[in-house]
Amino acid sequence: MNLLDYRLNIIPINVFIDPQFPVEKAIITHAHADHAKSGHKKVLGTKETLEIMKIRYGKECAQEFQYLNYGQKISIDGVSITLFPAGHIIGSSQVLLEYRNHKIVVTGDYKTTKDSTTSEFELIKCDTLVTEATFGLPIFKHPNPNIEIKKVLESLETYNDTNHLIGVYALGKAQRIIKLLRENGFQDTIFIHGALKKICDYYQLNGINLGKLETITKDSSNYKQKIILAPPSALKDRWSRKFRNKILSQASGWMNIKQRVKQSLIEIPLIISDHSDWNELTNTILECGAENIWVTHGREEGLVHWCKTNGLNAKPLSLKGREEEH
Ligand SMILES: [Zn+2]
Ligand SMILES: [Zn+2]
Repeated sequence: MNLLDYRLNIIPINVFIDPQFPVEKAIITHAHADHAKSGHKKVLGTKETLEIMKIRYGKECAQEFQYLNYGQKISIDGVSITLFPAGHIIGSSQVLLEYRNHKIVVTGDYKTTKDSTTSEFELIKCDTLVTEATFGLPIFKHPNPNIEIKKVLESLETYNDTNHLIGVYALGKAQRIIKLLRENGFQDTIFIHGALKKICDYYQLNGINLGKLETITKDSSNYKQKIILAPPSALKDRWSRKFRNKILSQASGWMNIKQRVKQSLIEIPLIISDHSDWNELTNTILECGAENIWVTHGREEGLVHWCKTNGLNAKPLSLKGREEEH
């Protein structure tokens, strides 16, 4: 089967999926920086993915932009390409390639748990599955995000003269945390670091209601009993010093690892991830019916081993330049 190589190049048509270097033609699964690079000639992706690329990198970040809706099939020289929701962040997609009766699905980053800031993951039957493995070890089991978010809400009631600062990445995590707070009954204004504003505005414009948000300004120091969201780096630097009584929290799948929590001085770790945990990965592999599993992006070895013991052909694809989690 010479349709896709280890760099995710679709050989017959010379199109790359999420290339790390500038190419003529690229399919972009989602707008996180480790997948979406600027400098390609033509890019294909969902409207949301390509619009967020323009917001973050500028309108000139590629020469041509081709939007593709979920489920809409295009064919280039006998290779059909269809995008399906990956459930990871707004606009995120899996790529289905069909060529001479062979179906390959490249998942990109994905999760199957419910998240009202993104379209729900769709399972696609295929012959070969290229899956991510960020949390590809059995120790990773993400708890219910509603139970996690309540830890902040309960703490806010108990320590009612204290601000709660939550570390979140700007694209996807910030909006999901805000939405979870809303869904669990928090109605007050949520304060955000300036670096989160553009993408929060984009989500709101695209029909995801995040409620009332206010950007932190220089003289926003006398807050009391507020929830404040900021990039994880800002929790550690000068920026956060202006808030006197504060409790630090962070939302990440890595909050599962106690050692990391200890080192980070995070008092309320929230295990909330936009990636699949071990059960989601292995269930998807079994349910998609693929015989061949290519594992990328994370802890490949554990998942490859599991696939082999379940009678599947599996191999790791080491893609350089992918970051841990956004
Ligand atoms: Zn991602
Ligand atoms: Zn990624």
